[in-house]
Amino acid sequence: MSERLPAPAEPVFWDIRALDKELRRVFDVCQGCRRCFNLCESFPVMFQRIDEEDGDVDRLSQQDLDRVTALCMNCNVCGFVMCPYTPPHQFEIDFPRLMIRAKAVTAKRRGLSWRDRLLSETDLLGKLNSRLAPLVNWFSRTRPVRIVMEWVLNIHRDRRLPPYVVTTFPQLFLSRRQAKQTGVPAQAAGKVALFSSCLVNYSYAEVGRAAVDVLEHNGVQVELPVQQCCGMPSMSVGDVNGAVEKARANVAALLPWIDRGYRIVTPMPSCSLMLKKEYPFLLGTPDAQRVADQTSDLCEYLMQLHKDGRLRTDFVKPGGTIAYHLPCHLRDQKLGYKSRDLMALIPGTTVQVMEWCSGHDGTWSMQKEYFPLSLKIGKKVFDQVAEAQPDLVVSDCSLAGNQITQATGKTVGHPIEVLRRAYGIKG
Ligand code: SF4
Ligand code: SF4
Repeated sequence: MSERLPAPAEPVFWDIRALDKELRRVFDVCQGCRRCFNLCESFPVMFQRIDEEDGDVDRLSQQDLDRVTALCMNCNVCGFVMCPYTPPHQFEIDFPRLMIRAKAVTAKRRGLSWRDRLLSETDLLGKLNSRLAPLVNWFSRTRPVRIVMEWVLNIHRDRRLPPYVVTTFPQLFLSRRQAKQTGVPAQAAGKVALFSSCLVNYSYAEVGRAAVDVLEHNGVQVELPVQQCCGMPSMSVGDVNGAVEKARANVAALLPWIDRGYRIVTPMPSCSLMLKKEYPFLLGTPDAQRVADQTSDLCEYLMQLHKDGRLRTDFVKPGGTIAYHLPCHLRDQKLGYKSRDLMALIPGTTVQVMEWCSGHDGTWSMQKEYFPLSLKIGKKVFDQVAEAQPDLVVSDCSLAGNQITQATGKTVGHPIEVLRRAYGIKG
């Protein structure tokens, strides 16, 4: 790795002086470019402070640098989606990774708050809360409880929280395996090890069920490997070492499946981004690169089946008009519009794409100080939904869906649920 873009394993990644120098170098390039002025709050705040200091980035205080970093919600759009100066350009700018590094160094300097540590333990929270799902869901809608939660956990009292399910996706998967052995066709069209994600496991089990139904409908053998959170929640609060631990565990768990000819497929864009792009960065090992190379986003995988002439198109129900939100973490994977193209295969379907950030991005928008800002960032998407008046609103990211529901009141599904319905799969 270059000195400007070190990996966490390199001592320079954690060097406060080297980071300070790099932040100022990059901010100086950004002030001359300003292309990202309207992506989020980090850039306007940075540009305003630089202007107030007559364009001299060396006059920015540590507080200014910290403010720009804290406002970053890790959507990644200012990286390879937007920036012309990413490597191999000689400027070697990777703004999202710089923000991760700055958060990691800050967390090391000040210590990680117990709140950030707790909220990034999504598996632990999911396991505990799904056991008491009706009670937890009721609590999360109860005003006095939310006021206490805001005080203790700093979660804004109006933040809509993803509901927990009574039957988790791994339980659902196991019980359908026990009930029927038909999930393993003699001549499989493909072999998938599903990296289901903690969001699907504990909150959006229906997405996981739809994924298995649609894949099996197409003759694909589906298995559910042992797995833990992809590490994105840890990484986005600056707990890079926590993310490294999770990445290491997942790489070790997934490699045997790859050895047996399985493709790793995930329905959540943040997880596929972690596995494909961040694991090689965090671990820097050939094993991590192998996992990255063998991972697909779910709709990317299905479109590959279609390209190979192996996707069934025996749809029995039209999709109707669909407002489709393309999540930032899919945009960063540069896959084009796979989910849109997949849904457009269904006769009687019109898909309108919404490419703006929803403003949710993990736990960032849950925080009391950032929740109103997150709604401001997502406004373009909310306005587009209101204007389109679609039959369905859909996003690959269930957290983005949660944010859209919060602002518009509309239920938001996943593209795979649209496909399941169009195939007429029941049960
Ligand atoms: S990653 Fe997203 S939130 Fe962070 S600075 Fe870039 S555009 Fe802004
Ligand atoms: S991140 Fe890149 S595109 Fe965005 S303002 Fe900076 S230099 Fe310009």
